[in-house]
Amino acid sequence: MLQLKRPELFCSQCFVAGEWIEAADKSTFAVINPSTGQEIGHVPSLGAAEVQKAIDSAHEAWAEWKNLLPSQRASFLMKWYHLIEENKNDLAQILTYEQGKPVAESLGEIALGTSYIPWFAEECRRTYGRIIPAPRKGVRPTTQYHPVGVVCAITPWNFPSSLVARKAAPALAAGCPIIIKPASATPYSAIALAKLAEEAGIPKGVFSVVTGKASVIGHEIAVNPKVRKITFTGSTEIGKKIMAEGAVTMKRFSLELGGNAPFIVFDDADLDIAVNCAFGSKFRNAGQTCISSNRFLVQKGIVEKFVERYAEKFRTAVVGDGFEPNVIVGPMIDETALKNTESLIKDAVEKGAKIVVGGKRHARGGLFFEPTLLTNVTKEMRVYKEEIFALVAPIMTFETEEEAIKLANDTSVGLAAYLMTTNLGRAWRVSEALEYGLVGVNDAALAMAEVPFGGVKESGMGKEGAIEGLLDYMELRYTLMGGIGA
Ligand code: NAP
Repeated sequence: MLQLKRPELFCSQCFVAGEWIEAADKSTFAVINPSTGQEIGHVPSLGAAEVQKAIDSAHEAWAEWKNLLPSQRASFLMKWYHLIEENKNDLAQILTYEQGKPVAESLGEIALGTSYIPWFAEECRRTYGRIIPAPRKGVRPTTQYHPVGVVCAITPWNFPSSLVARKAAPALAAGCPIIIKPASATPYSAIALAKLAEEAGIPKGVFSVVTGKASVIGHEIAVNPKVRKITFTGSTEIGKKIMAEGAVTMKRFSLELGGNAPFIVFDDADLDIAVNCAFGSKFRNAGQTCISSNRFLVQKGIVEKFVERYAEKFRTAVVGDGFEPNVIVGPMIDETALKNTESLIKDAVEKGAKIVVGGKRHARGGLFFEPTLLTNVTKEMRVYKEEIFALVAPIMTFETEEEAIKLANDTSVGLAAYLMTTNLGRAWRVSEALEYGLVGVNDAALAMAEVPFGGVKESGMGKEGAIEGLLDYMELRYTLMGGIGA
């Protein structure tokens, strides 16, 4: 059960146009705690009319919000940041309650998400335009960055708190109002952040949260001409759908989509670093992470030692309810995810993979699955081709650097890749040859406010973090100042 200092943060209403509302027809949907299978509450299933109201109110608020000084917008953001910091223990409980991850991980997620707020609050004072050297007499070509306008954010269930902060902070800092549509499995973290945004005094209409059917809300967002940008994190399949629908009104898009990350271990790797990075990248959020290592490519000379050391992590990690002490691995999000995991393992075993640890549902039942390590993996298996999104680590071997690069790039997506080596030349060569938006060399903790996080190929477009992440919410406009004379 939740033991919140501020119980009102666990709220079952939507925040639209500065008001806490229910659906006009009172319809709701249930939210389930994946650790217990129990309903934890019902949130509104809004219709198109309420979503339009959120968009209209954001559009009205835009004129004033964009004209504030950057330092004024920064001061609202910093109030929001301090309120999140003050209430982080409550927010972490809410996150674990709806999503299942261990409380320590929830606290880590909140800390990471929150770190984007001061970064963008500071950075919005530095969105410089240019004065371009005149190509003819009497003119000065200039450029300026302007906020794109109303932004809608659609977020997934795996990081229900940090992804809201990661999108809202740059949008608000740039001068754009934002409407958040959180995943239906995990709406409470976004609603709690809206409570604190209201408390921070962020003006009416500038920050809204709408919950309900993805098809209804998604359609309204996509076709409404007042929405100028959609920032989406989720699967590649839905990202493509949203982009196609939003093309009708020529919106701007940031799309943070799926991955199929290679984790390459060369014979010359530092084994301690390789095993720790492999652990961090695969075990976080029970493997349900877009940048989770998906395919372990291990050079023949080190594979035996690597598997022996890595397998120990799989045998000893405590699986359970995220509220229990010492738990490292929480539940999966739903039964569909569990069934998909079982089917991926079945396919691999039928094609010759060997289960070193795990391989089946956990003895404690529910949505818990045993951490699973597979060897003898080949290119024909689904675990090689598809995003696994579970704590299943498939290991395949390679002999040469060229082979490793070829295998690593053998996918339509390009989000994150990891490479373990102590050879400096190889680190440069291979990291530059990898067709990925993010590459970790001897490190696997890639996300931070200061860096441009985002994929290439079918992993999407746009960046979150860094100055690029702010400029993604702005448009560059050019003005020619003429009649100057000499
Ligand atoms: P998903 O099914 O694509 O859902 C993501 C969000 O899209 C949810 O809010 C969902 O709402 C909404 N949605 C679904 N159908 C929609 C539609 N037709 N129109 C508008 N919105 C729609 O993805 P997921 O299963 O939640 O998340 C897992 C995926 O996210 C993985 O592929 C993972 O790699 C990716 N991901 C990427 C990153 C990154 O930074 N690149 C980070 C995290 C996750 P409902 O919940 O109401 O269906």
